[in-house]
Amino acid sequence: MLQPSVLLPSLRGSLLGMGQVLIDAVLPPRCPSCGDMVERQGSLCPPCWHKLRFIAEPACQRCATPVLGAPDGAIVCPSCIVSPPVHDRARAALCYDSATAPMILAMKHRGRLQAVRAFGAWMARAGHDLFGESDGLVPVPLHRWRMLWRGYNQSSLLARAVARQVGLPVMDEALARRRATRSQQSLSGADRARNMAGGVFDVPARSLVEGRRLILVDDVLTTGSTLAACTSALLEAGAAQVDVLVLARVVRGDLMTISSPGE
Ligand SMILES: [Zn+2]
Ligand SMILES: [Zn+2]
Repeated sequence: MLQPSVLLPSLRGSLLGMGQVLIDAVLPPRCPSCGDMVERQGSLCPPCWHKLRFIAEPACQRCATPVLGAPDGAIVCPSCIVSPPVHDRARAALCYDSATAPMILAMKHRGRLQAVRAFGAWMARAGHDLFGESDGLVPVPLHRWRMLWRGYNQSSLLARAVARQVGLPVMDEALARRRATRSQQSLSGADRARNMAGGVFDVPARSLVEGRRLILVDDVLTTGSTLAACTSALLEAGAAQVDVLVLARVVRGDLMTISSPGE
């Protein structure tokens, strides 16, 4: 029999989802970033839209950091030359900053999921050159307790939104988070790496990933320690290749670039 401590978070997740659907049905659509009223559910108001910084080429092929002044083509930034990431290539749709943080945090922690479809379209555009060489999208998993409490995995929702655009399967079962970890949000780079060290993720069935070319999907790339832990688990289980696709990445201010493609 399930303990109340299991039932309560599960109920909370369901109620959160149901409540959000009801709220969406009766209240006018609101901008996912600032909360102002907008014409269409899931679209941003014009001021927030113009503040978004889409990552345009040229960007580092390995970590998706924009590299101002570099020629187009297969660029690798100095940081990735000195210390290459364990994954192969990375693509990000947006810079993570004061404009994108509110809508991403609202998606992640407050069940504001109206913009997920648009996020998926932006990610599909950012990762367009990865999909032809890939066998599937692997969302970064939540630990089961956090999943029960939140009621959804935002990375899995993003992967589904991308899959709708590009026709690849979403492989939710490929990775599992075995150990609950502290939230990475308030940790320094070194603490993030320590938090992710040692068997946080594993592959429940090697046959799911062996020989496959995979794209890991997450919401935000900060130091890359979560994605590195996931990539290592997939490669150790026999994956042939692991690329990374995120909605937004943290970028040092001097390397940012700005573009506003049509919504
Ligand atoms: Zn707004
Ligand atoms: Zn790089």
